[in-house]
Amino acid sequence: MSELIESSIDQAVELAESTANAEKVNLLGLSRAKMEAFFLSIGEKKFRAEQVLKWVHHHRVDNFDDMSNISKSLRERLNETAEIRGPEVVSSHFSEDGTCKWVVRVASGSCVETVFIPENGRGTLCVSSQAGCSLDCSFCSTGKQGFNSDLTVAEIIGQVWIAARHFNNVPAKMDRSITNVVMMGMGEPLMNFDNVVDSMDLMMDDLGYGLSKRRVTLSTSGVVPALRKLSEVSNVSLAVSLHAPNNELRNSLVPINRKYPLDQLLDAIHHYMNSLTDSKRVVTIEYTLLAGVNDQPEHADQLVVLLKDVPCKINLIPFNPFPHSGYERPSNNAIRRFQERVQLAGYNVTVRKTRGDDIDAACGQLVGNVMDKTRRSERHIAARQL
Ligand code: SAH
Ligand code: SF4
Repeated sequence: MSELIESSIDQAVELAESTANAEKVNLLGLSRAKMEAFFLSIGEKKFRAEQVLKWVHHHRVDNFDDMSNISKSLRERLNETAEIRGPEVVSSHFSEDGTCKWVVRVASGSCVETVFIPENGRGTLCVSSQAGCSLDCSFCSTGKQGFNSDLTVAEIIGQVWIAARHFNNVPAKMDRSITNVVMMGMGEPLMNFDNVVDSMDLMMDDLGYGLSKRRVTLSTSGVVPALRKLSEVSNVSLAVSLHAPNNELRNSLVPINRKYPLDQLLDAIHHYMNSLTDSKRVVTIEYTLLAGVNDQPEHADQLVVLLKDVPCKINLIPFNPFPHSGYERPSNNAIRRFQERVQLAGYNVTVRKTRGDDIDAACGQLVGNVMDKTRRSERHIAARQL
């Protein structure tokens, strides 16, 4: 047989396999409600959902034959119609300081990154929600790559699944490794609303990862209508990427501010915080410090005034440089002066430490490998009528 024919047969077999797989339901991406609906749709009882969720997220199996409390006939049926498939891990990196990074490939062909940061008895997993980002903040390397795709639920929760598999994390135990999840990896979570909400539900579900709502944080650059909608369906902790204390400066750093300026953003933050029934919860204000741009004493003073009615803590993120960014990180003295000035007004202000430097795992350095960015950002924003 000629090489050519052989390779086309191989391609046909591959295609047939992938078509067959494409029709299978990936159970990794089903929230509790959707898993129940799936079992009802195949004529099974709802309690099967509970059993399978535990196998998937507590035991992290990817093979139905390992599910020992499921009958052989149902396992055979599941093998034919469903699958448990996490995103492909392209590489894993382990830093000397305990930080871990996984680069995973998603269906669109792009790669995104997930980072685990152990600190003071906590283990925080930083999860990506999109390959690239359409919002183009001027100091963010993800934004500079444009937008490629929204991650599916299986691709978002799959990042938690992969990390939990690595640590052999036991959700029900207190000494688990992953204690917190922050949606602060690549992408703007509120631009991939439904998939992010379903994924966060699985993070908090006892049959998923059992994290409390305080330990799951969504970070947004300020997509105001989506933030308002979030208050109707979720009660996770909120972080807002502010980065500037006035509209003029924020317009140049965070372009979504031109559409939703600071007064609208602050209103939406109040609305979200008021929707949380438990008191004492505060919004985290993220402020990336860029030398000579937003780190001057007048910026600190304006920030103090702007946030005077907002129950918040402020997290300063010294800029993490990347090639051709055009920005610089302020000196340690400048960072301290800014911190002290805001602290003096009574705010709780922390400075984010850079972790995983040796594996490029710091905020804004998550570059993944985003493909085909041509005009997708504009289409993506247009589709969401922003
Ligand atoms: N899209 C969301 C979440 C992902 S970014 C958001 O913007 O909030 C997580 C945080 O890292 C954001 O506050 C973001 O502004 C910040 N960031 C992005 N690039 C950075 C860089 N190069 N240095 C420091 N922080 C950066
Ligand atoms: Fe997108 Fe957030 Fe980066 Fe802005 S900072 S471009 S919203 S990922």
